[in-house]
Amino acid sequence: MRRTGLLSRPAHPDPRTREGLFRGAAADRVPALLAALALGLIAPLGTRAAEPDPPPPPVAAPAPARVVTPVVLSDLPLAGPADRRIVLTFDDGPDPTWTPQILDLLIAHGATATFCMVGTRMEQHPAVVARVVNAGMTICAHSRTHDEQLADKDPQTIAAEVADVADRVPGVAVQTFRAPGGNWQPSILQASVAHGMQPLGWAVDPRDWKRPGPAAIVAEVQKQIHPGAIVLLHDGGGTRSQTVEALRTLLPWLAEQGYTTAAP
Ligand SMILES: [Zn+2]
Repeated sequence: MRRTGLLSRPAHPDPRTREGLFRGAAADRVPALLAALALGLIAPLGTRAAEPDPPPPPVAAPAPARVVTPVVLSDLPLAGPADRRIVLTFDDGPDPTWTPQILDLLIAHGATATFCMVGTRMEQHPAVVARVVNAGMTICAHSRTHDEQLADKDPQTIAAEVADVADRVPGVAVQTFRAPGGNWQPSILQASVAHGMQPLGWAVDPRDWKRPGPAAIVAEVQKQIHPGAIVLLHDGGGTRSQTVEALRTLLPWLAEQGYTTAAP
């Protein structure tokens, strides 16, 4: 190819030059404008279309304060048939072995979960607590010592056990409480509400803590799951390798079914 020099004009004018752009646009627009006029898509000058003014945009109302009710929540209230939110909950941690593995899987699948933590275990594993919080997961209070007979204790003991987890993560909103062993007596319900924490139950329980095998955990969740369901799983209180294995199957399966994970 023969070089023509820097100042010579190219054989074909660049349509992106100012002149080409202007001329091309003006020429192309005229038929389109005429067609739009003919179709009534735009009004000729001076003849404003008799359309009502659009409604003003809604003024964003402040989010209502969370209402805590003395009712054990097992399902999220749903917004409609298209709402397929579920809540994954992990009890009895934090655990330095299993909690990070579960966290990694949740993050890899873009899922969120609620960790129902035990105060004495938080005291032992503060770095794991920090990882859970920094990953944007939700903390639920699961008492200080996981005493399943807590309901029979004196009011001061119950109050101290219920308040313990939130006191360990200042600045983190701990808005739910789950009774140890799911033992919801009126004294526990009342203490939870008095501390501004919604009693958090579950609708789906694959009994992973009994270690029935990953396939059984997967099958039970698949059988029981439904929109709004709160799912009970465990990251602490024992070897949770089966729960971790089950999640490797469940997290992609839930996404395929159109479920999304939410905070309670
Ligand atoms: Zn528990």
